[in-house]
Amino acid sequence: MKIVMLGAPGAGKGTQAKKIAERYRIPHISTGDIFRANMKEGTELGQQAKAYMDQGQLVPDELTVHMVMDRFSKDDCKNGYVLDGFPRTIPQAEALSEALAQAGDSIDYAIDIEVPDERIVKRMSGRRVCQKCGATYHEVHHPPVREGVCDVCGADLVQRSDDKPETVLSRLEVYHEQTQPLIDYYKEKNVLKRVDGTRDLEDVFQAIVDILDE
Ligand code: ADP
Ligand code: AMP
Repeated sequence: MKIVMLGAPGAGKGTQAKKIAERYRIPHISTGDIFRANMKEGTELGQQAKAYMDQGQLVPDELTVHMVMDRFSKDDCKNGYVLDGFPRTIPQAEALSEALAQAGDSIDYAIDIEVPDERIVKRMSGRRVCQKCGATYHEVHHPPVREGVCDVCGADLVQRSDDKPETVLSRLEVYHEQTQPLIDYYKEKNVLKRVDGTRDLEDVFQAIVDILDE
């Protein structure tokens, strides 16, 4: 099963993608996570990506597509994957479609998690992430058992530097300009499924499971 998660930054793509990956035993591929891991390791790719991420801008398509294709070549991708944060532009979506078409394959589902912009800003200000394992929490909607400590690995939780309100606003602008057109792109391919992302995260997950198990 090959799934693309669509939605504004903060809509809940990562939260739901992790749950999908666990239930359907497919890898969760988050381009944001891969860029952040590269930044932490101080690789050249990480240094290049940082400049764009800090500004709330997209990393250039060439770098991003190359990185994703490299990830696809790993063994665990054989039975599918859930893509979170990729594609984010029409050229990225086309590169993905072309790569899959070469193997006679295509995306099965593009799940758009719909959340209005006003809610997004609130969600992002409460997001906390584990620096060590990448688990995501929310101060109000999904708090850890012990404040500031990751339930999974016990490391400290931090706020992402690009979750500051001013960066969130530029990320939303970039989303509307460059990523939202992907909704029509996948609609035309007859794989688009829309989910109301304003509900409780377990209800959002149930709606997704209903689609995938149909
Ligand atoms: P994205 O991957 O789309 O950027 P995340 O999955 O990281 O978004 O979610 C953004 C923030 O909103 C996180 O703090 C997460 O815990 C919280 N969140 C996710 N889904 C919901 C939901 N349905 N209701 C309330 N908060 C949510
Ligand atoms: P995310 O973790 O998905 O919110 O992504 C964080 C940041 O990483 C984005 O604001 C972009 O700067 C960068 N990024 C992640 N995925 C992509 C992508 N597919 N194309 C370009 N930039 C990306």
